[in-house]
Amino acid sequence: MNRIIFLVDMNAFFIMCETTRQPELANKPAAVAGDPNKRTGIILTANYEARAFGVRTAMTLKEARDCCPSLQTVPPDHDFYERKSRDVMTLLSEYSPALEQNSVDEAWLDMTGSQWLFHSPVEAAAQIQNELRTKLGLWCSIGISDNKFLAKMASELKKPLGITTLWSDDVERSLWSLPVGSMYGVGHRTAEKLSGMGIRNIGDLAAVGEDFLVQCFGRVGHDLYQHARGVDDEPVTPRMCSDVKSVGRSITCSHDLTELDAIQKVLMQLADDVGQGARKLGRKGQTIQLTIKYNDFELMTRQMQIHPTNATQDLYEAACYLLKKHWNGRRPIRLAGISLSQFDGEDQVRQISLFDCGDHNQGIRKSSQIDETLDAIRARFGSGCVTFGKLLPDPDHDDDL
Ligand SMILES: [Mg+2]
Repeated sequence: MNRIIFLVDMNAFFIMCETTRQPELANKPAAVAGDPNKRTGIILTANYEARAFGVRTAMTLKEARDCCPSLQTVPPDHDFYERKSRDVMTLLSEYSPALEQNSVDEAWLDMTGSQWLFHSPVEAAAQIQNELRTKLGLWCSIGISDNKFLAKMASELKKPLGITTLWSDDVERSLWSLPVGSMYGVGHRTAEKLSGMGIRNIGDLAAVGEDFLVQCFGRVGHDLYQHARGVDDEPVTPRMCSDVKSVGRSITCSHDLTELDAIQKVLMQLADDVGQGARKLGRKGQTIQLTIKYNDFELMTRQMQIHPTNATQDLYEAACYLLKKHWNGRRPIRLAGISLSQFDGEDQVRQISLFDCGDHNQGIRKSSQIDETLDAIRARFGSGCVTFGKLLPDPDHDDDL
């Protein structure tokens, strides 16, 4: 039996959440923006009225106001968006127990077998969309397909308030003319690499051999080939973002590292990846673990407790502290990894921050504003377009990891 998979993606989620508690923002151009009292703030999410004036994510407030002088802005309140997100997931879980949350504002639902409740998948989607609108005051777009990849692609085709079906049979007609960069799972760097090989749209990707793609991209090459042909066997795995117990990344270096500076560069990259992963889930962790594998394959793991955080700078500093404390400064390092765990509820987060001194809190706020800004810029321009100064190639060394 063919599966029926929905991807429910909330439209302009942050600003729509704000509008539920500030109804005066409705039907007027408005946006959630970082630090609205300063000129450095950028747009995190604009509503559709603002988008009609050309306001986009990652614009500076000045650019946004040039497009739309009447734009109203609200500072971000991520705790509130997480609570609204839980309300959304609770409502969706009434339609199917197989719910896999993909980020704070979207989830897959396996609706296979619920046909007897509705005339058609489109009718079921319309009911979900309507219920989210009337009960929670939020808008969504829903993609419907026989697999997760195509459901996600379908949800992107019409926003806001779209309901789009994209079955495996429609792939050639609906997807092959789109640029490869619009494919779910293809980041800025992969798109550039593909484009350099003359592979510009999804149809080009489907036409090249799987072996070639695997040669160039490893396991990802296999997924690229299958997805371009609309094939995806991944099951919907019931999971809420709140179930995730840890976020971790590791890098195996192309040559053994013995210089502190080079290892710190790797730690910065890892801290940035782990921080981004945790922020996407809306989670803050209290335990950071550093993993080091030496060139003789001996493994060292060391942990420490930190205040609940998902800020790149906090993770980086903790990892450097652990490295300096436990590494003898000479033994060649082959692999480094960072993981963040022991995520907790908001109450505990607040209790702990009561004991933080003012200066420290200001530091936390500043680094989370930087992370928010970088995340928004990456969302707009691709993951490779901004990075920390520490990660830029050293002009004196051609020491590319
Ligand atoms: Mg989304």
